[in-house]
Amino acid sequence: MVCIKSETAVAFVAFMGELSHPQPLQPAVCETLAAMATEASLRLPLPAGVTVFERGWLSSNNVLLDDGVNAVLVDTGYCTHAEQTLALVAHALAEGDRQRPLTQVLNTHLHSDHCGGNAALQARYPLLTTAIPPGGSQAVADWDEDALGHDRFGQSIVRFGFDRLLQPGRTEMLAGRPWQVHAAPGHDPHAVLLFQPDTRTLISGDALWENGFGVVFPELDGHSGFGEVGATLDLIESLAPAVVIPGHGRAFGDVSAALDRARTRLSSFEQAPQRHLRHAAKVLVKYKLLEMVTTTLPNLHAWARATPALGDLHRISTGAQADFDAWVDDLLADLVRAGAATLSDGLVTNH
Ligand SMILES: [Zn+2]
Repeated sequence: MVCIKSETAVAFVAFMGELSHPQPLQPAVCETLAAMATEASLRLPLPAGVTVFERGWLSSNNVLLDDGVNAVLVDTGYCTHAEQTLALVAHALAEGDRQRPLTQVLNTHLHSDHCGGNAALQARYPLLTTAIPPGGSQAVADWDEDALGHDRFGQSIVRFGFDRLLQPGRTEMLAGRPWQVHAAPGHDPHAVLLFQPDTRTLISGDALWENGFGVVFPELDGHSGFGEVGATLDLIESLAPAVVIPGHGRAFGDVSAALDRARTRLSSFEQAPQRHLRHAAKVLVKYKLLEMVTTTLPNLHAWARATPALGDLHRISTGAQADFDAWVDDLLADLVRAGAATLSDGLVTNH
């Protein structure tokens, strides 16, 4: 097994851990954690033929499952990092002067950080097939921007197509082993996860990270999501994985501790849904800062005003009583306090 760490994830590690770390982590501590994370990932017993490209937070991790003939990539990162995704795949599939092609792309779910490299990979490897979860497939077929939701969250995506569905309940042969496809609603109602029972390896997407799980997007629209997150955590526990490759962060082996942390976080959100809404708003701002790197405060306000999901969160969170720009400034102040951004002379910088 190989783990390749790309970009820097350290600042967002500090931010995403805010609920469990009362003090923001110092950059030096984060560097050390990142180094330890890579070291620990290298020691984990993943099956032969599995390569993890551990990406920064704007892109999801990519997992290459390769039996020497068929090479399959699970999740493809964010569109602005597509060149790096192409380079990582090409490097992994190089055999001397020869380049083996990528044969398949699979997506655990259709958020922009997980399928943003699909179009570039389809262009580079025209014969590859792409499989996506059934739930979002009609929206992709029609390229229905409203249903896909990327505009609503102020994110970018490049149009791609698909060839078949990644059906829950089915088994996929990947890297010479059977991988079960399970429905994993919660973070996204249509998400799936992949489980290899012989080696007890789980590709969890954003259903379970080492420290938490992704924003529960259905709850932002007033739909049920927390119960589904809990049921998916129960499913993961019942599968008893030895190793989890999450959508973000390092692969990890102490799954019961991760489940405990996830359930604690879920319970805090269930008891105080407003806390989840504010967390979601900060994640959306931070995610855009990861893409923009540096911008002016007026530019950030303009982007926020043009992002419908933030308008909705502002209305739900404050009853539209607070001034919108002041509300965004307050979110930004939290990010600055967590060490996830800096604000100086009207310039906002990702950190
Ligand atoms: Zn993600």
